[in-house]
Amino acid sequence: MPMLEELRKIVQDVDSAPNFTAALDIMVASVRKTMGTEVCSVYLLDDKTNRYVLMATEGLNPESIGVVSLAWNEGLVGLCGAREEPINLDNASAHPKYHYLPETGEEKYNSFLGAPIMHRRKVLGVLVVQQRDQRKFDESEEAFLVTLSAQLSGVVAHAKAVGAFETTRTAPRANVTRMFSGIAGATGIVIGRAVVMYPPADIDSVPDRIAEDTDEEIALLQQALEAVRHDVAELNEKMANTLMPEERALFDVYLRMLDDNALGGEIVERIVAGNWAQGALREVIEEHMQAFAAMDDPYLRERMADVRDLGLRILAHLQKQDGSSLRDFPEKSILIGEEITTAMLVETPLDKIAGIVTVTGAANSHMAIVARALGLPTVVGVSDLPVTQLDDTELIVDAYQGRVYVQPSRQLRTRYKDIIKEEQQLVAGLEAYKDLPAETPDGHRVALYVNTGLMADVARGKERGAEGVGLYRTEIPFMLRERFPGEEEQRGIYRQQLEAFSPRPVTMRTLDIGGDKDLPYFPIKEDNPALGWRGIRITLDHPEIFMVQIRAMLKAAIGFDNLQVMLPMISSVFEIEEALHLIHRAVMEVQEEEGVPIAMPRVGVMVEVPATVLQIADMAQLVDFVSVGSNDLTQYMLAVDRNNTRVADIYTPYHPSVLRALQIVVDEAHRVGRPVGICGEMAGDPATAILLVAMGFDSLSMSASNLLRVRKAIRTIPFIQARSLLEQVMQVDNAAVIKSLVEFELEDLGLMDLIRPKNKG
Ligand code: PEP
Ligand code: MG
Repeated sequence: MPMLEELRKIVQDVDSAPNFTAALDIMVASVRKTMGTEVCSVYLLDDKTNRYVLMATEGLNPESIGVVSLAWNEGLVGLCGAREEPINLDNASAHPKYHYLPETGEEKYNSFLGAPIMHRRKVLGVLVVQQRDQRKFDESEEAFLVTLSAQLSGVVAHAKAVGAFETTRTAPRANVTRMFSGIAGATGIVIGRAVVMYPPADIDSVPDRIAEDTDEEIALLQQALEAVRHDVAELNEKMANTLMPEERALFDVYLRMLDDNALGGEIVERIVAGNWAQGALREVIEEHMQAFAAMDDPYLRERMADVRDLGLRILAHLQKQDGSSLRDFPEKSILIGEEITTAMLVETPLDKIAGIVTVTGAANSHMAIVARALGLPTVVGVSDLPVTQLDDTELIVDAYQGRVYVQPSRQLRTRYKDIIKEEQQLVAGLEAYKDLPAETPDGHRVALYVNTGLMADVARGKERGAEGVGLYRTEIPFMLRERFPGEEEQRGIYRQQLEAFSPRPVTMRTLDIGGDKDLPYFPIKEDNPALGWRGIRITLDHPEIFMVQIRAMLKAAIGFDNLQVMLPMISSVFEIEEALHLIHRAVMEVQEEEGVPIAMPRVGVMVEVPATVLQIADMAQLVDFVSVGSNDLTQYMLAVDRNNTRVADIYTPYHPSVLRALQIVVDEAHRVGRPVGICGEMAGDPATAILLVAMGFDSLSMSASNLLRVRKAIRTIPFIQARSLLEQVMQVDNAAVIKSLVEFELEDLGLMDLIRPKNKG
């Protein structure tokens, strides 16, 4: 078999291993076989002892597994870990670092090839092959081992997270607090119970859940099995004229597999053992997948697809009966899942939701932004979270530090309760800032606007003294529906926003979908969505969607006169001209239809694409105002996907290039006499907000949760001091240093608790 095929097979087998030990065993056995070496072993670094422990081997004495270990700097294994690179030697025993381990029954293996197992820049262990003959492994063998060790790293990291190299699928140990790290999405702290969210018909993400009534679960299963039998029989009939009888024999196989003696019976056993029907189904299907994966016979491997297909069919029926709308959301539910989309979030009973934790995603993913607007502490990118095991478990979400504690101890809970109390006091203290202008002590005034999407944001924004809406994300009401809302429907929705703030400005962004923002009824599948069809590109290609929206906005604004229209994802002058042309047309049409004079609304351009930064003076002159979408601008300036956990730590608004770009936009927009605001997340962080004020932004727009914090920061720092901080920061070439400089300043001003509660260790 070619190397690539082998690789693929090993990765697949390791992935579907029932537990961690089995995964390691599969790895060493297959590597040894494929590379034709005498030994393959995995050594993993134990954090407590700082020693490499032999965790799996083929070729060395199996008794030494878990017994033999090497200090972190000992032997060739230690050397490989310390250098963080492969070590390839044809005469290992001659190497000064060579360390003979008698317990392993190791003979004189002369050739040695080791590859470090690295996860997020940390060494977790070393994967080693050895051979008696003196020979140097060739480049392709080295690459093979390095690739596998990169694959193994995810498995090891996950196993570590679930409990120091234990088998991954055993039930979590009782009364042991486990901690998982991710990225802070929306700040705050909450203690609550996990509710696992999973997309329908995704069998791998079905959680284990204790069956409340075993008989009922069995009855549900029987109904689902019956329904699938029925479907299969129907399919069989339908295919009668299309397939040959022997090809249709597959359907008989299906029917037999559903039998009580086959899958059906196995699932019932799992239910009797305590799992609910859907969880029991997942367990059984997973086991079959593993059994099939281990087989080399291509015919039997084919059957794997059939079992999976059947599993999905049964699941679909079980979920239909279950009806997720009937799901129980306890008070203080913490939603957890591989991925939770904005659409999934807004469909839950929001008054019961207290926090969110996801395996994928990054701080400025769209869902995280909506969570922030809703004031829900959120941690994203918790790549090790064993989601399926956590349904209905108690969690503490510390979204300041990006941490999740599972089954917290009493002491930890008490400590966090204190922190929550302190946070509440801080918020109560901020109430005083509700009605005060956002003005520095030395008289520099900026406008603070709110970002909205749901009506709840409007109420919260007003309550906290927002001076208007700086960004109304119109795609959010679109997400809540099952089709594009019509003109009248949109008019009603928009009118609520305009009315609530009149006569203050309400800035409505035209539909900004694509990228990470999909409408369920308008799916866009692209290889590279962030650089693809999104924002203004879609609406200019679909003027009918654009026109309906603009007309609805214009009609909604009749009598209020506070509408501003904002164009997302602009990358050329031509797009602005096109959009303006359509807006003009809509004004004429609505005027004619309504028989009242309609003024051209103020139109603004968003700066989200680096090309726009450099051409901003040309563009600004075509419109009435400029607003920076720093979330996307950061993504595009740094070429970092804002949703990708792996690169989340290089996505930072403190990057000197981002800061310089912002200053250019402010200066250039002012030079041509246009006001400039910012509505990305950095406007709502008190630390970055003071830099933005110093740069000269006329307005900052943020989620309602941040209005009071930012206002307090602005009212505390004199403009002159903010300016000198900015000057200092602009000389620095490193984002991390800039961030610390700004945080020192906040510390000096006694404002640190605005971004992190005092009680935090
Ligand atoms: C932005 O990109 O900064 C922005 C405000 O838009 P969104 O986050 O909705 O893409
Ligand atoms: Mg954007």
